[in-house]
Amino acid sequence: MKFGGTSMAGIERIRSVAARVKREVAAGNQVAVVVSAMAGETDRLVGFCREASPLYDPREYDVVVASGEQVTSGLLAIALQAIGVPARSWLGWQLPIHTDDAFAKARIGEIDTDALDASLAAGEVAVIPGFQGVSDDHRITTLGRGGSDTSAVAMAAAMKADRCDIYTDVDGVYTTDPRIVPRARKLAKVTYEEMLELASVGAKVLQTRSVGLAMKKNVRVQVLSSFTGDDAPMADTLPGTMIVGEEEITEVERQLITGIAHDKNEAKITLTAVPDKPGSVAAIFEPLAAANINVDMIIQNIAHQSAGSASATDVTFTVPAADLARSIEALNQARGAIGFADLVHDTRVAKVSVVGVGMRSHAGVASTMFTTLGARGINIQAISTSEIKVSVLIHEDETELAVRVLHTAYGLDAEEAA
Ligand code: ASP
Ligand code: MG
Repeated sequence: MKFGGTSMAGIERIRSVAARVKREVAAGNQVAVVVSAMAGETDRLVGFCREASPLYDPREYDVVVASGEQVTSGLLAIALQAIGVPARSWLGWQLPIHTDDAFAKARIGEIDTDALDASLAAGEVAVIPGFQGVSDDHRITTLGRGGSDTSAVAMAAAMKADRCDIYTDVDGVYTTDPRIVPRARKLAKVTYEEMLELASVGAKVLQTRSVGLAMKKNVRVQVLSSFTGDDAPMADTLPGTMIVGEEEITEVERQLITGIAHDKNEAKITLTAVPDKPGSVAAIFEPLAAANINVDMIIQNIAHQSAGSASATDVTFTVPAADLARSIEALNQARGAIGFADLVHDTRVAKVSVVGVGMRSHAGVASTMFTTLGARGINIQAISTSEIKVSVLIHEDETELAVRVLHTAYGLDAEEAA
């Protein structure tokens, strides 16, 4: 069981988490619980580090920010003991959870579960702080923001758990954002690959890295709500969304499109009149890569003859909006090497994506998308595809309309509003 920061925000909520854990124990399960810090706490701790010195030592930053989870794991163990459930906390260094030494964004390696297995077998609940581990030279590490999802999946894999239940403030994964489409449906199952696409295109339910790890280690992950009382359905009845391998989805269950995601955090850059010659595109993307900027959608227009000179072409691509300023700087510095005429940029764009493993075996998904958007007068500025995803870039103001009409076009609307 993994509980996020909202579920751990205050003693009252920690008590209800304890009650929830007790029910699972009473049902005959051995339970390990992974917890986040109280909501807002990690931000507060990060703030302290920055205040102490903008050039803080990342090893000491990890010591500071890992403490939020130390507090909640101890408190949950106390709350469990108080209602008669034997429990103890296991800090990252105590197990230990080995990681590399990429401080603030460490990756989990081996996890020692011998002590844990013995403790569970003796009838104790194990409470494990998420987000933290220990490096080979015994320094505290953290996994990057949102990392306790990854801790939970890694623990489930190491302990060979039947399931990893992630309790969060939504009750599952939806076909799209229910705030935009009230008729969005909760999915009973979604595949790892679909979840990765949905996560990376803006449906932020789980840390993307945790989904990749679950896929690699074949961990069955359920996303379910933490906001329900004593009468909440037991987790074994699968009230949430199960994230599973594709082979677990039957032919009948399979939809053409599983979900529609949107992302307003990209910015579009166009370089005009880039010389049409070998190496041009490399000259654009090399400085961006060197600046550690992830380019997402790319389109290179057909070359045209500019008056009296060699042929040239416009190149358009997207970068995270937060990296726009750095991108412009990197490109302007490389202007001589690239040889573009103008740099035009636009942050008022949104990426809308349709995702589904069903499109592997069906034609026409992209054409339905384009026709549907065209009929509503929505202009497409860029397109990118993968085997299970079609994304378009449109004007930001048209995001909600696009999501709604596509949800209907692919037959995803529920009978009644959610
Ligand atoms: N507390 C950490 C954070 O806020 C890790 C987590 O909650 O997943 O990023
Ligand atoms: Mg989270």
